[in-house]
Amino acid sequence: MSCRLLTLCQYETNKLVRINSVRLGSLKWTLNVVILMFICIMMLWNKQYQELDPVVSSVTAKLKGVALTQVPGLGDVVWDVVDYSGPAQEKNSFFVVTNVIITKNQKQGKCAEVPREDKVCQTDKDCSKGAWDQHSHGVQTGACVKFDVRRKTCEVSAWCPVETRSKPPRPALLAAAENFTVLIKNNIRFPAFNYVRRNILPQMNDAYLRGCHRGDDALCPIFRLGDIVHQAREDFAVLAVEGGVIGIQINWDCNLDRLMERCLPKYSFRRLDEKESNRTLYPGLNFRFARYHSENGVEMRTLYKAFGIRFDVMVFGKAGKFSFIQLVVYIGSTLSYYALTTIFIDWLIGTSCYKMEAQQNYSERKVESVQDKQQCILSVSFVDEDQLRLVRKSRKKSLQNVKPLSVLPRKENNGSHLKAMLELPKQGSTPKLTPVNGHGSKPLPQRGPGEPAWCLCGGCSSTPLHQEELCCRRSRGPCITSSPLFHPLVLSRPLLEALLRYRDPLGDPAGSTDALRHCAYEQYIAWRLGVPPADSHPVVPRCCVDKIRAEFPSLDGDYQGFRPR
Ligand code: ZN
Ligand code: ZN
Repeated sequence: MSCRLLTLCQYETNKLVRINSVRLGSLKWTLNVVILMFICIMMLWNKQYQELDPVVSSVTAKLKGVALTQVPGLGDVVWDVVDYSGPAQEKNSFFVVTNVIITKNQKQGKCAEVPREDKVCQTDKDCSKGAWDQHSHGVQTGACVKFDVRRKTCEVSAWCPVETRSKPPRPALLAAAENFTVLIKNNIRFPAFNYVRRNILPQMNDAYLRGCHRGDDALCPIFRLGDIVHQAREDFAVLAVEGGVIGIQINWDCNLDRLMERCLPKYSFRRLDEKESNRTLYPGLNFRFARYHSENGVEMRTLYKAFGIRFDVMVFGKAGKFSFIQLVVYIGSTLSYYALTTIFIDWLIGTSCYKMEAQQNYSERKVESVQDKQQCILSVSFVDEDQLRLVRKSRKKSLQNVKPLSVLPRKENNGSHLKAMLELPKQGSTPKLTPVNGHGSKPLPQRGPGEPAWCLCGGCSSTPLHQEELCCRRSRGPCITSSPLFHPLVLSRPLLEALLRYRDPLGDPAGSTDALRHCAYEQYIAWRLGVPPADSHPVVPRCCVDKIRAEFPSLDGDYQGFRPR
């Protein structure tokens, strides 16, 4: 197998067109510099040259504060951190009790259930033994007993007396929790860079922590609860009644490059539970807990329904450090931006900012049209039209009437014509440059009896092939064969012989009639069609074919005819 068949032995590359233009050249470089600047700015701004690593963290919180409250039925109660921080919550969060419903001295027994809209009874029949539902405080005994003066409810076996109050007290009992403080300790780690840090920075000593205040130091790790809620755009007194969830976000955006090392936390706060839907169903945050003791050998408990604020500490962050691989990847990803220059300039050339001729020139150089092999495109020229037509070969219509695919300006063939015209005087056969018919003043020729319908010059004979049915004109008028130049340029035997000899200097000077005839066709094409577009077949009008065949007849009377491949 030859190497040519294997694509392994080949390499294809794009062909480029270089336009020599100061305007376009400077525009290209300006755009490229703008793109380069944009890429550099984006790289520095977004630190695209850095490798990133997400944060790994742990959080602990230490609450401080004492409050004195008036609890109904209990009198003055002092709350310290053990009382109000409630039982341990999930990790990375802490809870502060802000409001409470206390039911004292409950013991196991039987008592009346709290009346609810459908839980009021008249007789024992209304109560069924053993029944309970989601809102029950105990299991029904089957008796209907007095709850208060007006109402009777089913009796239940429960911790008695049952909790009767459902709405939290207003204002909140522990509204003073606003002034409690919390120390948040946050240890972080960036495993990829083996970098460890915490939000209590190395320079913060005991004295600093005792005295720092968030108002004037954004890095202070001690927060007043009232400030946290305020910065989350909430009112502490309102939030304290039903409770809620507040998020404390700590964001670490670290730059670990040696010259610009910076790794400090940034705190922000927001409410996490939805305030609006809270107003209607199951508002706020609450839970119950009990403290047990025994009195005279009987187990008793105090039930607390605690309302409060849960603070969730969320840590986000990433660290970046210079990485050569990242830099290369970023540069690689930006290379395609330079194609924008090409797209823009190509678009600009196509717009009306550019002169028509310049556009035509660029597109001709840039775009090479190739015809599908199946299509047979013919090029046709009429003596009364300055342009060249490209038409598709038709089996049904005569060539004269086929609609053109495109109309192109005619490209002059300089070489052979110049040569031919120079050759003429030397041959001594000075052409008579007078019209053969002298048609200038004569009326236009009328259609003869045997003349085909498609002919407009009166000189064409009929032919069985549609592809040969072509006249020298688009509109009625004199035939091109009557031009004084037709004979000297197309039919002059000395000229054709000279041309044949020019091609084959040592060949037969007289030439065969067939060669002369074909040379005459070529002369006509070079004269009237110039250089026809590549991939198209030039067609000689029927009247000229007739004239040329009459001058240089085939010996056996057979002609090949026009056969485009
Ligand atoms: Zn004709
Ligand atoms: Zn004609």
